[in-house]
Amino acid sequence: MNATEWREYWKSHDPYVETKGKRCSSCEKEKVGTDFYRCCTDRTGLQSQCIECVKNRPTRPPRYKDKTPVQYMEEGRNGNSEYWKSHDPHEEVKSKVCTHCKAEKPSKLFYKSWVDKDGLQAWCNDCLHKRHTDDPARQMFVNAKARAKKRGLEFTISKEDIKIPERCPVLGVILDPGKGTATANSPTLDRKNNFMGYTPDNIRVISYRANTLKSDATTEEIEQVLRYMKE
Ligand SMILES: [Zn+2]
Ligand SMILES: [Zn+2]
Repeated sequence: MNATEWREYWKSHDPYVETKGKRCSSCEKEKVGTDFYRCCTDRTGLQSQCIECVKNRPTRPPRYKDKTPVQYMEEGRNGNSEYWKSHDPHEEVKSKVCTHCKAEKPSKLFYKSWVDKDGLQAWCNDCLHKRHTDDPARQMFVNAKARAKKRGLEFTISKEDIKIPERCPVLGVILDPGKGTATANSPTLDRKNNFMGYTPDNIRVISYRANTLKSDATTEEIEQVLRYMKE
């Protein structure tokens, strides 16, 4: 079977039941199935690296201090990120001109950005917040992509696949993108089946509150809670 066929297979089978154990491709230890995250496109239904190895995977290069961006550049590293990882642009940069609204503002009104020359985002916070409010799907897409990468989940959606309904399909409240900070009624991207990744048929937009309630619970667990609360 190929990856697509395995994906269909693992929709109705539980790898934690069917796969007794496997060898981690990183630490090469023989481990039990539940020591791995799920990966629905794999023959075993599990990721190749064990959870311990996935969690310990280095995400950032080590810090380097006391050099200027130019010195790092000469060493062939990305000078900006090496420099700003150990320096504070809010301390070292006084002000900058936002490339969007063209206003000159104090550096504290810009979010930090390692990769930029001055350690700050090109757009000021106001402009970024406005973009977030005007185009909430964009932020959901970017965040989901990062989460998928971190957890090794399948990711085949595009921004256009993220359709934000007027109301939360679970709780019925009106969805409000807000101004950057999440509220109970903020739209969030949900995976219908938590064991599957971000694919067009496995995503929908629900309120932050509904998403939190759901979190990692299975339908059986939700039903159990419901039964308990009604007693
Ligand atoms: Zn391992
Ligand atoms: Zn601006």
